Amino acid sequence: MTEFDETFDVIVVGYGFAGAVAAIEAARAGAKVLVLEKAPDPGGISICSQGAICCSTNPDEAFAYLKETNAGRIPDDVIRTLSNGMAEAEGFLRELADSTGAEITTRPRGGNYPFTHRETFYYCHVDSIPNFDPQAFFPHVKGRVGGPYLFRILQLKLDELGVDVRLATPAKRLIYTTDREVRGLVAQTPNGLRYFEARQGVVLSSGGFEANEGMKQEYWQLMPVLTAANRYNTGDGIRMAQEVGADLWHMWHFHGSYGFRHPDPAYPYGIRVKRFPDWVPGNTEADMIGADMVDVPVAWILVNRDGKRFMNEQPPYLQDTGARPFEDLDTVTQKFRNIPAWLICDEEGRKLYPLGNPAYNDRDVQMEWSVDNLKEVEMGILKRADTLEELADITGMPAKTLKQTIERWNTMTGARNDDELGRPPGSMVPIASPPFYAGEIWPIVSNTQGGPKHDGKQRIIDVHGDPILRLYAAGEMGSCFGHLYLAGGNIAECLISGWTAGRGAAAERPV
Ligand SMILES: Cc1cc2nc3c(=O)[nH]c(=O)nc-3n(C[C@H](O)[C@H](O)[C@H](O)COP(=O)(O)OP(=O)(O)OC[C@H]3O[C@@H](n4cnc5c(N)ncnc54)[C@H](O)[C@@H]3O)c2cc1C
Repeated sequence: MTEFDETFDVIVVGYGFAGAVAAIEAARAGAKVLVLEKAPDPGGISICSQGAICCSTNPDEAFAYLKETNAGRIPDDVIRTLSNGMAEAEGFLRELADSTGAEITTRPRGGNYPFTHRETFYYCHVDSIPNFDPQAFFPHVKGRVGGPYLFRILQLKLDELGVDVRLATPAKRLIYTTDREVRGLVAQTPNGLRYFEARQGVVLSSGGFEANEGMKQEYWQLMPVLTAANRYNTGDGIRMAQEVGADLWHMWHFHGSYGFRHPDPAYPYGIRVKRFPDWVPGNTEADMIGADMVDVPVAWILVNRDGKRFMNEQPPYLQDTGARPFEDLDTVTQKFRNIPAWLICDEEGRKLYPLGNPAYNDRDVQMEWSVDNLKEVEMGILKRADTLEELADITGMPAKTLKQTIERWNTMTGARNDDELGRPPGSMVPIASPPFYAGEIWPIVSNTQGGPKHDGKQRIIDVHGDPILRLYAAGEMGSCFGHLYLAGGNIAECLISGWTAGRGAAAERPV
């Protein structure tokens, strides 16, 4: 028999969007809730995000689209929970935010891929909260514009409900019976290991494993893959669920793009590229949410170490599949041909907009990307040369091939037709005005999608296909995106899986 230090009804592990929503819903159902958060500050990667929630008023159409993007890898009941929830998410958010005076807007945003019913989706987004300045309130957070607003709304609700939140308190292991019925967990508190009883259930919402190099190497061929924004998401919930027999799904799948490495090896994050129209003078970033991100000027091309292009630098959804073309392994040299790659642009491209977009929720780092990219030239992130020959010399690429690649690119740009790799015409920008710039480019993971399998009720499923008693998953701790991603889908999932898991745990018969 375990002697518990404290007893709660529902324990939630992780305080990002998913954990916050699970805690709110469990508390609103009458449960005594404890939230454990490993980091000294709450918010996970959620708070760095754009906060865009993908919604749909037509659950059947959303279901059809999501089923196609998941390519048969995800059971229908799981997709149903998400598609039904997408019809409720906007109302859920509006109700939560009601007392805050927050401004919530919606705008059309179709699915990223040309599948049936892609037009059914739209974005819902918190644009402002009266008397709340995200930068002043969360000075250690850098990222997109909307995440801090959405997080603040959830945080206010947790406070209102009196939910017990313990920061800097990582959950370590589940406590369970011989029948593998979960009864609580052990956590590392500032006062040492403590045993917490969960009379009804445990919700694992500890994010993915993007900051666990060992797990990334175990599950992915591609390496290295830099982590975009979070050093605490080390797959702890996945390991805890594995211990009680959880089956795993799509561990290979991550929400990933590409970007720069900071020259200081101590800086823990990759810096994702930033593209027009994220940056349009006179517009705020919020104006750009939901804008079509495909057919707009992108200042660069990518080339590999041989000086050759290898991918459409502006695929339908860069943050989803942008990392995949980096997988190309040379089977003779056993090197990834395209890692690192080089981003190449010219003087006009350099002036267009900031090329990098740092994100973190971390007191120990600071990184501002300059508006004109010149600070990054000084830092060595971007290398500058007056001629392409000189640029080839600095980067170690063959000059002849690099020049041919750029000449070919400029010809295709003039014709508005990338007949090699299919770049959208509106995104094509010539590379012709010296000086020229090159920056080393690496694959980057924003958040992982793989983790413990769950059913439509967010119950974690064991290797025999049975639910593990009293154990729930929410958010990216085993996301239901198993093949392709949908912009705004992860936060929709955080809300929907969060409320499903929180209500489910709070409805369990107390031990
Ligand atoms: C820059 C950026 C922009 C994005 N924009 C969008 C967007 O607009 N729309 C969208 O849908 N998605 C977006 N995403 C993805 C989305 O933000 C994430 O998928 C989602 O927020 C993950 O939420 P989560 O609650 O599952 O995990 P997180 O927010 O990462 O929360 C997990 C929490 O668990 C904690 N934790 C980990 N281990 C333990 C442990 N052992 N004990 C206790 N706590 C633990 C972590 O510290 C963390 O706080 C974006 C991602 C990035 C990086």
